[in-house]
Parts: sequence; C-alpha cells; structure tokens
Amino acid sequence: MAQLYENDEPFVYRLNDNGSGPSLLIRVCMDRGWRMYQGYSGGEEKWNLWWRTSAFPATSYKALGDWQFMNHIPKGGSICRKDSLSRLLRCMRRIYGSIYDFSPPCFHLPLEYAKLVSECSRLRRDDDRGSNVVWIHKPVAQSQGRGIFLFRSVCDMRCGSPAVVQRYIERPLLIAGYKFDLRLYVCVPGYRPLTAYMYAEGLARFGTDKYTLSDIHNPYRHLTNSSLNKTGPRYAECKDRIGSGCKWTLKQVRRALVGRWGAVEWLVWQRVRALVTLTLLAQAAGTPPARNCFEFYGFDVLLDDTLKPWLIEVNLSPALAADCEADVIVKQPMLHELFDLLGLPMKHTGLSLLQGPPTPHITSCSSEDESGATKSARATTAHRRGARRVRRRRAMPIHCVTLPAPMPDKCSVPDLSEKPKVVQTGKMYKTSSEISCEGLESQSTTSVALSSSHPSSHPSIQSSEQCSHMDETWRGGYATAASRRRMLTACSWGNGVRWDRGAGRVGRWVRIYPHATSTDDQLSVEDARESVAHVSKLLRATREVARESGRDKSAPRDGNRDAFLEAALRKKLDYGSSFEVWLPPF
Ligand code: ADP
Repeated sequence: MAQLYENDEPFVYRLNDNGSGPSLLIRVCMDRGWRMYQGYSGGEEKWNLWWRTSAFPATSYKALGDWQFMNHIPKGGSICRKDSLSRLLRCMRRIYGSIYDFSPPCFHLPLEYAKLVSECSRLRRDDDRGSNVVWIHKPVAQSQGRGIFLFRSVCDMRCGSPAVVQRYIERPLLIAGYKFDLRLYVCVPGYRPLTAYMYAEGLARFGTDKYTLSDIHNPYRHLTNSSLNKTGPRYAECKDRIGSGCKWTLKQVRRALVGRWGAVEWLVWQRVRALVTLTLLAQAAGTPPARNCFEFYGFDVLLDDTLKPWLIEVNLSPALAADCEADVIVKQPMLHELFDLLGLPMKHTGLSLLQGPPTPHITSCSSEDESGATKSARATTAHRRGARRVRRRRAMPIHCVTLPAPMPDKCSVPDLSEKPKVVQTGKMYKTSSEISCEGLESQSTTSVALSSSHPSSHPSIQSSEQCSHMDETWRGGYATAASRRRMLTACSWGNGVRWDRGAGRVGRWVRIYPHATSTDDQLSVEDARESVAHVSKLLRATREVARESGRDKSAPRDGNRDAFLEAALRKKLDYGSSFEVWLPPF
C-alpha cells in the first residue's frame, strides 16, 4: 500500500479566483483532508476541484483535465436569472400546458410595460378586486431582496433597471402568522441526459414580522431572504412558535404541517420534486454535454395556503455560510454527502485519485464478435505499450492518469467490477475532451484507474453487463450515433463515476431524475416531451396514492404513513427498485 501511494498528494480545492469562499465549504474541504490551492499568484494549475461562486469563462471548460472538477456547467445558469427563467418557463408552458403552471405570471420590463398596463386594466375590469391585486417588482440582476418592492397600481411603480414584475402570491402558507419559503438543494451532474439529485433536508426561511397585506411596504413581512431578515429589528427576538432567528429545517416544517394536512402534506413534497425537475428540463436542451462539471443550485419555493408550491427563483450559488444552528445542521452534512455523491475522495486519494496501482494491466476495448486470437494479439501489443508507459510514468506528475474512455458504438464496456486497470496516456496534461475524442476514434484502449479506497465503492461504477444493457436502452434515445456518443462521454466522469447508472440515493441526496435507471424500460433520457410525460405520470400517480390512502380506513395515520405511501407509489409506478421517493426527514 505504501508503494501504491508513493506519489500521493492530498486532493486540492480551489475557491473562486482569490482563495476566499464560504465558511462551511472551507470547513468541509478541510474535514475531508483536502488542501487549499496555493497557486493564486500564477503558480501551477494543480487543483482537483474548483468551486466558483459565479460562472466560469467558457475557455475553462476546454482546459479541464480528467482529474479536475468544476462546480458549474456551461450554460447551466440560464434558469438562475429571473428574466431568462421566466422566458424558459413561459416557453415550456406554451408547449406542455398547465403542468408548467408553477411560476407566478410575469412581465419583463421595460419591454413588456404596455402588456403589464393592459393586464392591470383587464383585471380592474373583470375582477371586483382587480385594483387590489398586488405585484412584486424585482430587478433582474440583483439578489438577496435588493431593489424589490410591492405595489398595487402601475402608477406606484418606480421604473429603473431591467426588472421582472410578478403577480404576488398573496395568500402564502403561514406558520404562526409568519410567511416562509423553502430553500432546496439540487445537484445536477449532467444535463445531457438530465441527471438530477435533490437533498432531502433543506431550510425554511421566515419573514421576521407577521404577514399582512395591509402593509405591503414592510420587507420583513413579505420578503423571506435571510440576508435581509438578519438585519431586521425582530430577528433575535423569540417569536411565537418560530423562535429566534429566521430559519428552520425542513424536518421542522414537516412536523408543523403534518398534523393539519395529513397525506396532502406528503403530496406537496412530490409536487415540489416535479416542479424542480420540470424547471431543469426547461434549460436541458440548451446545455451542451460536459464532463466533470456539476451544478449545485438553491431552489426557492413558496407554498400558498392551499399547499400549492410556486417557484420563486433558482440560485446559482446558494449561500453556504453558517449563520445559525439550522444552517450547520443542514449544510455541513449536505456538502459532505454532495462530495460523496460526486465521487470526490476523502483524504489522501487526491491528485492520485486517478492513478491506480503501479502495475499496468491493459484492457482492450474490443468489439463483441472479435475472435479470441485477435484479442490476445492486441493484448500483447498493448501490454508492451503499457510497460513502456509505466517506465515513463515515474518521471511524470501524478496527474497523468486516465479515465474510463467513452463507449464507442461497437466497443464493449470495461468491466469496472474487476480490479482497477491503468493505461497511461503518455502525455502530460490531457483534457477531458481530448481523451473523449481519442476514445471515440481509436476505440482501442479503455482504462479506469481507481484509488483503492475510492471510486470502486461508488454506487454508480457499473459492471459491463449492466452497462451494455444501458447501451441498448440509449440506442433509441438519440437522433444520431455521434450525439449519442457525446452524451455517453459526458456522463462518464474522469473518476469513474457513471451518471447514466447513477445511484438512486447517496446519503440524503436522492435522484429525482431520471426516475429510474435504464435497466427499466420506461426510461427515455433525451426527449423533452417524454421527460415531461414521465413527470406528469409521477404527479398523477402521487395524487392517486394520496387520494386512495385518504379513503382507505386501514391506511396508517401515524409515523408509518410515509412508508405506506411510498410502497403504494412504487407499486403504482412499477419503475423498479431504482426509483426513489424524495421526502424530507420526519
Ligand atoms: P432575490 O433574488 O433578490 O432573493 P427573489 O425572487 O428570491 O429575489 O425574491 C425575494 C423574496 O421575495 C422571496 O424570498 C419571497 O419571499 C418574496 N417573493 C418573491 N417573489 C414573490 C412572489 N411572486 N410572490 C410572493 N412572494 C415573493
């Protein structure tokens, strides 16, 4: 083992462009034994994970090595701008209809000012209380509640920078008279095909003054941003049921709701899951395939007094500060489990994560009908090549390691359940895209180098039997063989994690899409229409299950209700064991 880790170095994390970053993130990286990147003053580009609050320049993705991971996906932030989110959802609403009715009606200013005025007059004409409708004005390029105000008449609206004006959700669900919204954490390791996980725990963020529509100008009643409420006069006060501060965990929210709402409370979480998936699907088509990149979003969702969830916004870099106990309870394990989900190692398996054992063992990636003789001739040549590379490798930095090659059309899939195998590339810095192309063109070698402690244990590292099955399912999913290959490449990460075979659950991260992995016939990953149909099917099934359990006198009403509803949903959907129900803890 000592020999194996001769060149071992810790995993290196890099924060923004200057080394500063959120306190909890730094704490978790340190807990994992990772080392902070030292090259901010122009040193070597030796890092494994680059975490940036804002998006990366497009060129950064091109230079990404197989041992490197970044916390954004090219074009993954379209849903995070208020105006483009509303445009995307409007477009999906036009195509798919009322399933996309989870975002309040919205106007873009200054472009749609006239439309807004005419909508206001229509409401005044058609509805007795039309003149009383409340609108919320939000500047598009701001966050944390800055520049937001409520109004009833367009005459009261101050126009300035580009903004969106939304129908205000006037009857939010209240707890002890306080408005709150939900902060949900979502990880997308790939859009092509869409693979999405949502963390089962999350936060509720309260306003710190009691909610009333008779005072629409007090932000502490109407805005639930914690950055704003933290500065409010009643933040530290012990408020009725809410306590001091302004945050709860989702577990606390569930406990507050379940007595009053019964099975409807369970149903609302399933609707939240659908809302998140549908929002991600809205931008999936505009996002190119990318390896070793992931998005970590914060979804803000508001429940109204009928328990209907409304999407308020999506954050590209959700806050990772530890302001209060709820933050620490939720965010710290969430980040640890996020890195587990992504297959990023603990401790000293860092830059050597992809290095593997020193003895080369070359596998030939051959077509399935190849004769045994050809196979063994190729293996001998490959072995000689491999030995040469091993000699060269000793002089090379430890980054010079390889990844599971993409699977070309007729290429059998490496059996990752076998011992780790290494092929050296013989080139100092090889980028994901270079390797992908080589893999596709030569169809000759495939390698997976794994640290002994890691990814082999990752649930999404798959056996050849499973993968070839997956290949069959995917064949029908893409327009051309080339696009299918690009997608397959993108979901095979440099650390051996295969997202097309992603685990249903890692810690509290639950896969919310695809609903089932490809061993199930129902899966169709690329077609947006089919994906929306899957979500619709899930919604229908959850409604039926909740309704039936309400009628069923023998259905449990206590703590066993979750398990009962989950079993009923699984039975109804018949997705197989890889389907997971997303539900906050209770
Ligand atoms: P920011 O990016 O500045 O945080 P948001 O869109 O998240 O802007 O809005 C801030 C807060 O305003 C939300 O947390 C929510 O409490 C409230 N809010 C925003 N839009 C609406 C709406 N349409 N109806 C009711 N409340 C809203």
